[in-house]
Amino acid sequence: MSLQKNIYAKVILPLKLRIDISYLVPEHLSPSIKRGCRVKVKFSGREYLAIVSSIDDNCGSYKGKVSEIIEIVDGFSALDEHFRFWEWLADYYMCTMGEVCRAASGNFPLVSVKASRVKKRVASVGGDFTLSMEQQRAKNEIEKSFKEQKPALLAGVTGSGKTEIYMSLSQEVVNKGGVVLYMVPEIALSRQLEERLGKVFGEKLVTFHSAMTPASRRDTAQRVADAGSGNGLLILGLRSSLFLPFSKLDLIIIDEEHDSSYKQSEPSPRYQGRDAAIVLAGIFKSNVLLGSATPSFESIYNSNSGRYRLVRLNERYHGAEHPEVEILDIIKERKAGRLKGLFSAIVLKEIENRLLLNEQVLIFRNRRSYSPMVQCEECGYIPLCSHCNTSLSYHKNKKELCCHYCDFHIPFNLVCSNCGKGSLTEKGSGTEMVAEKIAEIFPDAVVERFDAETTGKKSEEKRMLKDFASGKIDILVGTQMISKGFDFKGLSLVVIINADSMLAIDDFRANERAYQLLEQLSGRAGRGEKRGKIIVQSSLGSHPVYSSFQEGDKRLYDQLKERQEFGYPPFVRMIRLTVRGGDKLRVNEASNVLEQKLNLLKGAETSGPFIPVVDRIRGEFISHFWIKLPRSGNSLAKRWISTIAIEVEKKISGVTVVPDVDPQ
Ligand code: ADP
Ligand code: ZN
Repeated sequence: MSLQKNIYAKVILPLKLRIDISYLVPEHLSPSIKRGCRVKVKFSGREYLAIVSSIDDNCGSYKGKVSEIIEIVDGFSALDEHFRFWEWLADYYMCTMGEVCRAASGNFPLVSVKASRVKKRVASVGGDFTLSMEQQRAKNEIEKSFKEQKPALLAGVTGSGKTEIYMSLSQEVVNKGGVVLYMVPEIALSRQLEERLGKVFGEKLVTFHSAMTPASRRDTAQRVADAGSGNGLLILGLRSSLFLPFSKLDLIIIDEEHDSSYKQSEPSPRYQGRDAAIVLAGIFKSNVLLGSATPSFESIYNSNSGRYRLVRLNERYHGAEHPEVEILDIIKERKAGRLKGLFSAIVLKEIENRLLLNEQVLIFRNRRSYSPMVQCEECGYIPLCSHCNTSLSYHKNKKELCCHYCDFHIPFNLVCSNCGKGSLTEKGSGTEMVAEKIAEIFPDAVVERFDAETTGKKSEEKRMLKDFASGKIDILVGTQMISKGFDFKGLSLVVIINADSMLAIDDFRANERAYQLLEQLSGRAGRGEKRGKIIVQSSLGSHPVYSSFQEGDKRLYDQLKERQEFGYPPFVRMIRLTVRGGDKLRVNEASNVLEQKLNLLKGAETSGPFIPVVDRIRGEFISHFWIKLPRSGNSLAKRWISTIAIEVEKKISGVTVVPDVDPQ
């Protein structure tokens, strides 16, 4: 009688565990189980879908009772390439494989999808792209850098036809049966592009983002898994599409590569989609094209150092000119008596002129709500959130005071709840107030507001974009949501209210971001035949960001030197450690312990604890540490930081220490 030898599987559970757990493989499953399989297991009394990381004839040093694998889940199993990508993510972003697999497993198809469920699109129109000479030259250069196996960075002004080049390159790959991943930073952009790409790629196009239903996400995942057979596929997706079950990947396009929305800040893995895409491309030997009108300092650095090939496209298609830029000194305007509420008389005159010509106006304000706070006129009381240390914003339409950090909201009451005597008045202006005031000044104009509140419904968002594009809306008031990628032919004037609030952020990237936002906004103006104009209302007219904006990006990129001098990214790697917990004393104690330990870290510059302006969010107190490490050769230091973070969590209960690598 021969004794059957036990087989064990180590599995990665979708939890923050730091080790893989061993399970016994029942005999009937042993022929089919392999690394990468998805299995159902029980852990701490709950069932989980886990991923098999290895098969073994022992269960290591574990002495307790080993449970059995319940079943193998049909469908896709992970390849070595996927493991390599996940391991890189866990290592680089200082998290566990379990956290990475949790992010990935939402994307893996559970069961085979029948072909009939795959949505058929309009038949392929295809056709050749007739690129302009400039565009063709850029495309040739991009292809040259692909031959050298270098990522290309396409720095093309807004409206220069970057998208046309992306489509032309994608089409060549797809026609040869290849797979293209076309990444965008935000859902709104993907919705807009979906239509444009769909006309060319027909049923070869699939999309992927978190707002899709689980069923359509599975459909996309299945198409990606099947694409290895060489039918050709274009995937339009957000950062999470990096976790799709690729078996073949020929080209990755990273559109608006500078956009900070590529970074996931919550939950872990806190990865940068652009940077992770480049690693994935290395694993699949795919070509990479990054594109932006305002490349990030990181990518400029990489092209200066020869890692990327920089390709410029300086002309707008059809030769449309860069809009005229006017920085309007709001202090002077006030002194001259030309300030009418929120707007300078010069701005109002410009708007009036555009409306007379049947042209459209965009007013940008980077704050939603009616007013960011309200205050009692009698006792000075400012209503605050009960869970966050921040003032409540007033939303006039909803008759509510709302917290923008959590879901807390209360009905708005004109009478102060503190003294019962005074009335609450608005302090500051948000998009809702801007839209209301401008509609009062131009009663015949159709004014609408485009922000997170009004675009909550996908259908409303679509309608507004359509109505603005077709000229039904005269004046659109919006937040940064409206700044990216949109193509409105009739829009000729962009006005920025309270522009200085972009500069006030305590962040070494504030200038870079503000410049990018201004450039993106100006890219919305004058895309038709006529030259557009952009007016910035500011009381800091001589700020370097505004002069760079007026004079072109050269001056801004001089600031790279400053970053080098003072040792900021991209010249160093930055890690932010956040200590958080419900009890303020414990957070302080943990911060002190952490500070002492961090002081022992060699070859790094650490600072903290810092208490942020909003030092309590969703009931948790917060403190930050900043750690600067050399760009390379820092893995030991990172491991050490992870270890002390765990030690502090163990020592002081009720506190978590969260590392964020390359925080944005
Ligand atoms: P970008 O992506 O650089 O902002 P787009 O690709 O959106 O620029 O091009 C701007 C506008 O010019 C679009 O309306 C686009 O259709 C048009 N356009 C650009 N290049 C071409 C081309 N080669 N042929 C026809 N239209 C073009
Ligand atoms: Zn809150």
